[in-house]
Amino acid sequence: MKDVVVVGGGLAGWRAAEAAAKAGASVALVANGAGNSPDIHALNVPVRADDSVERFMDDTLKSGRGACDRALVEVLCRESVKLADEFPFDRNPDGTYKLLQPLGCSVPRCVSIDHKIGAWALAKIRRELDGKVKVIEGRVTALIPGSSLFTIHYSLGDDDGACTARSVVVATGGWCGKYAFSDNPPELRGDGIDMAVALGAAVRDMDAVQYEPTVALAPERLRGIPVITTMLYEGATFRNRDGREFLVDKHANKDEISRAIFAEIEAGRGVDGGVWFDATGVPHEILNTTYVDTVRRYAAAGVDISREPMLVAPAPHTSLGGLVIDTRCRVLRADGSPIPGLFAAGEVTGGVHGLNRIGGNAGTEVLVFGRIAGQTAALRKDAANP
Ligand SMILES: Cc1cc2nc3c(=O)[nH]c(=O)nc-3n(C[C@H](O)[C@H](O)[C@H](O)COP(=O)(O)OP(=O)(O)OC[C@H]3O[C@@H](n4cnc5c(N)ncnc54)[C@H](O)[C@@H]3O)c2cc1C
Repeated sequence: MKDVVVVGGGLAGWRAAEAAAKAGASVALVANGAGNSPDIHALNVPVRADDSVERFMDDTLKSGRGACDRALVEVLCRESVKLADEFPFDRNPDGTYKLLQPLGCSVPRCVSIDHKIGAWALAKIRRELDGKVKVIEGRVTALIPGSSLFTIHYSLGDDDGACTARSVVVATGGWCGKYAFSDNPPELRGDGIDMAVALGAAVRDMDAVQYEPTVALAPERLRGIPVITTMLYEGATFRNRDGREFLVDKHANKDEISRAIFAEIEAGRGVDGGVWFDATGVPHEILNTTYVDTVRRYAAAGVDISREPMLVAPAPHTSLGGLVIDTRCRVLRADGSPIPGLFAAGEVTGGVHGLNRIGGNAGTEVLVFGRIAGQTAALRKDAANP
């Protein structure tokens, strides 16, 4: 028996495991892959002198098209500031932070570590928890509540297993892996949502999926890999089959860009189901530093993106809806009451992003709410304490 079992091995799950272990709980983590978290390039923290928690909140609420849970957004933005004390985000020689401006942010706000904050943070947490958290590589198939303990059933390929815990943190990510053309791995199918709903959990915004506007259609070996949209601010453009530039508003949000691309394709001006994303106007020194991973990836596939455009199309990228939680990450029923012992964090939840997520806000979300979920889950010692 464990105090806490975390389901999911992305950053929300590992962050919850870290917080629960630090709070003195015995912890196991069950996962069938690493999810999307290793791909997190950068995340939002309001560190610039002209930025603030209030401005961050304002941008997030506006991008969410009026559908965010304001209390969750407030926690996201207030708690994000602490990340600057915890992580050695990259800085310029003059000591200021290296920042990118994601779509939907009114100022540059995206921080990172070597452009790979997701993989970096996962590696750090796993290293620190080595031997302290039991890791089970399996797919959880059911959560069965008892009078004070959950039984967590999992499948290990040909074998099945089960363990028990006082608290369960659901951190199974989203469901975009279900789509035929997506940049998510296929194991991300919304399992955690199904399992929690079977226990009476409420869901919200289940029709809200964010499309990444610029996912590679070709060359074949790059199909499904996204190209970072912040290149738009550095001089990249969209071009149709006639080579004509469209979507001149560089400050459009991801949903507006995806709609503009689909409109171009539907009007018969697309190229093999996509459009050109042309980075030939991005200064070479920026391409070869900030976007060096993209440059190298395309070069290995025989495309020089400083000379040739990339063929891209929008693809399902992030589930925006999901389980309804409160600010302590307790999973709620439709009547607003918490399901005792059940917690959730990360892309499996809804409400933080509303109907449209700002680039970089998912990384902030998983670090902030993963920690809260782990802390709250560790506090539950008995059935009387939901
Ligand atoms: C290519 C790409 C790039 C991105 N870049 C950024 C970025 O730069 N900045 C940003 O803010 N956001 C970015 N995002 C979004 C971000 O990656 C995700 O929203 C975030 O990683 C979600 O974290 P998570 O821990 O909730 O879920 P995930 O990291 O997806 O992890 C889910 C975990 O649950 C496991 N799981 C699922 N079902 C089961 C089951 N039944 N049993 C056991 N385990 C299960 C999975 O295997 C996985 O371990 C990007 C997304 C993609 C696809």
